[in-house]
Amino acid sequence: MAGLAAAARARELGARPVVFEKGTRAGGSMLLSSCVVWRYREWDDFRAECPTGDERLQRVVWEGLDEAIAWLESLGAPVVEHETGNPRTLGKRFDPRGLTETLVGAAGDVRLGKTTDDPALLATGGFQGDARLVAKHIGPATPLRLRANPWSTGDGLRHGLARGAELSNGMDEFYGRNMPDADFSEDQFVPLAQLYGRFARVYNDDGEEFFDGEVSWSENDLVQATARQPGGRAWYVLDEAALQQRVRDRTVADMVALAPTKADPSELPFTVTRGAKVAVRVRPGITHTIGGLLIDERARVASADGLFAAGADAGGISTGGYASGLAAALVFGRIGAESALGRL
Ligand SMILES: Cc1cc2nc3c(=O)[nH]c(=O)nc-3n(C[C@H](O)[C@H](O)[C@H](O)COP(=O)(O)OP(=O)(O)OC[C@H]3O[C@@H](n4cnc5c(N)ncnc54)[C@H](O)[C@@H]3O)c2cc1C
Repeated sequence: MAGLAAAARARELGARPVVFEKGTRAGGSMLLSSCVVWRYREWDDFRAECPTGDERLQRVVWEGLDEAIAWLESLGAPVVEHETGNPRTLGKRFDPRGLTETLVGAAGDVRLGKTTDDPALLATGGFQGDARLVAKHIGPATPLRLRANPWSTGDGLRHGLARGAELSNGMDEFYGRNMPDADFSEDQFVPLAQLYGRFARVYNDDGEEFFDGEVSWSENDLVQATARQPGGRAWYVLDEAALQQRVRDRTVADMVALAPTKADPSELPFTVTRGAKVAVRVRPGITHTIGGLLIDERARVASADGLFAAGADAGGISTGGYASGLAAALVFGRIGAESALGRL
């Protein structure tokens, strides 16, 4: 998202940018996403949800997103829904393929299967695809399955650090979903997500209910806690009432039905509460890293003169919680272009 948005904006401003795309297709994780570009309705809610995020950067995203979404629409990006379906948030759901095609057309010169040693703006999508970097910074108990494009392996982070860049806070945080503890393919990233941990009793392999307090609406806190349990996994144990709960247009029972790792509670290696109907073994899939290079409000990388970064390469925005990665990538992609061209 960030690189294409930056190039599209740069071209609009009269420049002739080149997008070097390491992958065999454009669109990165944006193309695989649910494509809801959103922000919290209330500023205070954003701060409360992501309390350790960089307030300056959060303010830029929160204030700039509505105009940035209107810009996407003005380019012809197809909107599928004009609401997010969550009363606490505002935004739009785009068609990911249509959005990618629109941005590629507006960006102009997109070179697939190519990288460069001399980037003006880093937008490589984070470091979740590099298990060694994930182990070093995030430290899960076992390697995490990837729930993202395969090419975001920390190239932006490495390039920035080689140029003297500073790191943001939140280097040990990630955004992801608890998935069935089994292999899955790209087209299962969304439908197989087990997004009902808040209705379940959650145990680790030792039979401990390890998560204290209430699970957040995004469940990202539970996902990160799961990554640090023995074996990096957990059991969601559900009774009849939990199975009937609804998440958007599906019941929990619908989601459980798709999970290949469901089991009868009597088969678990520990005893669970009476009334349990089914258990599902889950393990986090990592979607993107939350920490990254430290930038300022103009997308300038701290301590790396003349270098800009946006998207998941720029860290510390949704630290402590979860906020829209597409929103941050869109807003800072555009700002990165304006800033690099001296228009800010
Ligand atoms: C299943 C799924 C659902 C999601 N749903 C949502 C959602 O509804 N709302 C939301 O806000 N977010 C969602 N996200 C997250 C969102 O997709 C990311 O936050 C967003 O794409 C990040 O933008 P980015 O530009 O940093 O990375 P990307 O969009 O992934 O783009 C990075 C690009 O850089 C390329 N690249 C990597 N290394 C190099 C290199 N060295 N040289 C050149 N190119 C390189 C990659 O191939 C990729 O194309 C979802 C993600 C997934 C996987």
